[in-house]
Amino acid sequence: MNSLKDKVILVTGASRGIGATVARHLAEAGAKVIVNYAGSQEAAQQTTEAIRLAGGDAIALQADVSNAQQVKEMFDTAIGHYGKIDVLVNNAGIMITKLIKDTTDEEFTRQFEVNVRGTFNTLREAATRLADGGTIINFSSSTTRLMLPAYGIYVATKGAVEQLTRVFAKEVGARGINVNAVLPGPTNTELFTNGKSQELIDRLAALNAFNRLAEPEDIAKVVVFLAGDEAKWISGQTIGLNGAMA
Ligand code: NDP
Repeated sequence: MNSLKDKVILVTGASRGIGATVARHLAEAGAKVIVNYAGSQEAAQQTTEAIRLAGGDAIALQADVSNAQQVKEMFDTAIGHYGKIDVLVNNAGIMITKLIKDTTDEEFTRQFEVNVRGTFNTLREAATRLADGGTIINFSSSTTRLMLPAYGIYVATKGAVEQLTRVFAKEVGARGINVNAVLPGPTNTELFTNGKSQELIDRLAALNAFNRLAEPEDIAKVVVFLAGDEAKWISGQTIGLNGAMA
């Protein structure tokens, strides 16, 4: 408990799903949390409200991570409010599963805009504005280790996130900042369950050693560890959070 006391942590895409649970767990560990969201204002308010009710400290900030100006303003506001940002969790992401032959230009662009440009935008700000000794946790996916039909564009975006992670770890290491990517396996959120039959969900859940979907808590606990000083020597790594799926 309180291992993250005095740390200020920005979690992108924290209105719903894994990001919301990550935000709550970070706050429970003592961090002050900036809950970023794009469109789900009410859900973001619920996340910050839950944190405050539990005795924590959080604010919600709207910004589309694919928009450089909005990301810059989010950093301005967050640093204006809390005085600094120590940890950046790049969780915001979208997934459209379609065979490559059926994917439209718009679907291709949208996924790259949010998942790759979104990560790029926050990393670029963090390069000069994250506190010395800070930490960055990017979100890739264990699907980059598989060859799943219909995941082509999505894994292309997450592969790019993994490469950015490795290079950025070297670029900001001199300031004591460590940078890693986590790769969740199938996790029980709207992003994963939307549009899937129960049969398909069960089949994908059976790919790991524990024969169940991950819950957002499974991912959040690892993020809390990575955000802390205990994990400082881990940098430039892609860490599978998938129960031995891949
Ligand atoms: P959800 O769809 O449940 O939640 C996505 C979150 O991202 C929402 O809070 C949403 O906010 C936010 N978001 C989407 N677009 C933007 C944007 N342009 N700017 C800012 N925020 C945005 O997804 P998950 O929680 O399942 O996924 C979280 C991360 O984990 C993603 O990067 C995903 O790729 C990755 N992942 C998920 C897996 C899974 O099985 N669930 C497996 C592997 C990786 P809002 O609603 O306000 O727009």
